[in-house]
Parts: sequence; structure tokens; C-alpha cells
Amino acid sequence: MLRAAGVSLSFGDTPALRGADVAVDEGEIVAVMGPSGSGKSTLLHCLAGILVPDSGEIHVDGHRIDTLGEAARSALRRERFGFVFQFGQLVPELTAAENIALPLLLSGVRRAPALSRAEGWLSRLGLDGLGGRRSGELSGGQAQRVALARALAGSPRVVFADEPTGSLDSLAGEQVMDLLVGAAREQGTTVVVVTHDARVAAYADREIMVRDGRVTTPVGTS
Ligand code: ATP
Ligand code: MG
Repeated sequence: MLRAAGVSLSFGDTPALRGADVAVDEGEIVAVMGPSGSGKSTLLHCLAGILVPDSGEIHVDGHRIDTLGEAARSALRRERFGFVFQFGQLVPELTAAENIALPLLLSGVRRAPALSRAEGWLSRLGLDGLGGRRSGELSGGQAQRVALARALAGSPRVVFADEPTGSLDSLAGEQVMDLLVGAAREQGTTVVVVTHDARVAAYADREIMVRDGRVTTPVGTS
């Protein structure tokens, strides 16, 4: 359902991707691993239609998206994708519950039911009682779990998660991965998760390795 073919992208003189190829099936959980600076986040952003490659093609559900304009890619992202980014992403002035409810509110759900669903997510993530806290006043790990809840709240077809367990202790990390696996198994959500952590990758159906801007498949898997 997601496919990158020969994707290259440079930031000025720095090549981030050099002919990356990857295909992800519907409902599959793929862990993206590799050294720092190898191009993992850039690949994720290209697959998600956030960045447009210099060359190569990105396909979603068989449709090429890298040739679409920003408005069409942005609509696609809003309708079908959920994101957990590597760096800050919540709206700090909104409460934790309001942040989670945002995708629901944008898709027309009324405020009261949207906030009540947000409270449900908070409790599944061990964050009971924090719904009314402004997200700028959450700890890094709490904010990361709120961001995951927001990514899942709109029932996206694909969740792109960049180091979603990075600042979490192992219990909170397990909760995050259990939620992602649950979404994949129960709703057929496709999950692309960038991680340095082999314990996180163990939850995935498949690992891919990014090295020097190319996707290589690690020894021992297919
Ligand atoms: P990490 O594990 O540290 O998050 P990564 O594998 O996600 O690393 P990328 O963020 O994709 O790596 O970066 C790939 C290369 O592109 C690096 O050399 C990085 O310095 C460069 N790069 C990434 N984003 C930018 C940017 N916005 N401007 C300039 N260079 C960038
Ligand atoms: Mg990165």
C-alpha cells in the first residue's frame, strides 16, 4: 500500500536519500532501523508526502503522490495518515485531551464526544487525570504518549512513528507498542516505525535497514 521507488533527496549539498526502495503492505508493521543520519526520518517524511523527493516515485494505494501539489498531499495526510514525530508536535496552548481530539474535531466530530474519546485514550496510555493539563506542561514521555493517542484517534490507515518510544521507560514503551500493534491487528492499520531499539523492532512484522540513504534488508529476514 506504500511504495518508494528509487527515491533520492538532498538537503543542499547533503544527500539524505540515494535511491531508496521500499514497499509496505496493508496492515503490516515495519520497523525502520539504521545509524543516526542514515536517512530514516527523511524516508518516513517522503513516504508520508511531507517531503517531495528530488527523483524517484512515491505511491500510496497504487496512486503516485510525489507529483501532487501541496494541497492534495496535505489532504491525503489529514484523511489517511497519523503521525508521531521525533520532535515536539503538540499544540502547547491546548490541553492534552484537546490535542488528542484535534483530528476528530477536524473531521467533524462534536466537541463533547471528541473529548470523551480523548479521555479514553489517555486512560489506555496510563495518563488518567492529565486530560486538562496544557500539553506544554507535560513531561517529554507524557507528551510522546499524547502524540501517539492523537495519531491513532482519527483511525488513520497508516501511522508513521519516528522514535515513538525514544524518551519513555520500558513500561511506557511497551504501552506505546501494544497500542500500535493493536491498531494493526484490530483495524488493519499499517504502521511504519523508526526506532533504534531492538526491543521495539521485535514488535514489527519486518525490519528494514537504512544505510547511507539506501534501504538494505538485514541478514536473516526476507
Ligand atoms: P537519526 O537517527 O539521528 O534521527 P536519521 O536516520 O533520521 O537520523 P535523517 O534525519 O533522515 O537521518 O537525516 C539524513 C541526513 O540528512 C543527515 O545527514 C542529516 O544531517 C540531513 N538532514 C536531515 N534533515 C535536514 C534538513 N532539514 N536540513 C539539512 N540537512 C538535513
Ligand atoms: Mg531521524
